[in-house]
Amino acid sequence: MFTPSRLRLARLRLGLTRTRLAAESGMSLRSLVEYENGKRRPTNEGMEKLAAALSVPREFFERDPIEPVPVQAASFRKLSKATATRRDAVLATAALTLEFYGAIEQYFRLPTPAVPTFDKLAPDHAAELVRRQWNLGDRPISNLAHLLESKGVRLASLNQDYSDIDAFCFYRDAVPYVFLNTGKTAERQRFDLAHELGHLVLHSEVEMDPAHSKAREAEANAFASTFLMPESAVLSQLMDGASVERVLAARSYWKVSAMAMTHRLHELRLLSDWQYRSMCITLSDRGFRKEEPGGVVPETSQLLRKVMFGAEARVSIRNAAKELELDAAEVRQYVRHLVPTSA
Ligand SMILES: [Zn+2]
Repeated sequence: MFTPSRLRLARLRLGLTRTRLAAESGMSLRSLVEYENGKRRPTNEGMEKLAAALSVPREFFERDPIEPVPVQAASFRKLSKATATRRDAVLATAALTLEFYGAIEQYFRLPTPAVPTFDKLAPDHAAELVRRQWNLGDRPISNLAHLLESKGVRLASLNQDYSDIDAFCFYRDAVPYVFLNTGKTAERQRFDLAHELGHLVLHSEVEMDPAHSKAREAEANAFASTFLMPESAVLSQLMDGASVERVLAARSYWKVSAMAMTHRLHELRLLSDWQYRSMCITLSDRGFRKEEPGGVVPETSQLLRKVMFGAEARVSIRNAAKELELDAAEVRQYVRHLVPTSA
């Protein structure tokens, strides 16, 4: 038994070309092409070589075919060629993460997806409607990760060694998945979550071709901004021409980055162009462009914590890895920073 789609996926997840894999496994390029196309299958010895070169147990290649996550299904923006290779690696890993969730669902019934779709609406209007539907009122969202999980969104961590790859999302069998870059600050992760929710709400019907991502990205950002900082509530806070200290107090209240707060105030005409620019410079000087001094602690997954550590916990990293025929270290990456590291 040998499954061609698994060989391809194992290769892509490491960002290897066939030529590189040929060099590293000592096999000919032609053989590799034939194995991936299913024209021929490797000998037992060949399978051992491939397994070693790709850091998977040999049995990985013997599991059922695996369906890749197509680029057009996921919410990526247009990327440089080098970054696109890393994106494909992340997408290959995402397909394996789906199997991890599949392993969980053998034992647990996870929340039914309840993310509305408003693909005909303007982003800010859609964000207000989702807030209303979910009874969030005008309050800050205390924990966005928990909120999304309760609405059936499955969260996972993407390989954060790739700092140039942002969060992304897609639907598989009507279930929404969001992959987070958990190496970022808490505030940025929250904005990323709200941004991906924007894609799920606004763009579920759209083919997500990265070449035409510009308008989509702007819409998801507008959605996130309104969803996290609703207009009427921000307007009622008397932030007209706000000082840096007031901006910092407001970002703590809404749990957003100081930069996102500043942007929102400018968007709502509470800061003039000139005030906006000088606020950005001041915040940048104080280190707010990359970090979030005095910020909050990153959110974690409630769902994964329950199924991995709960009273009737059945899915540990180790037994999931065994079932998926992968190294535990690899499976641990799927939930990195979303659950305690002792998982
Ligand atoms: Zn996006």
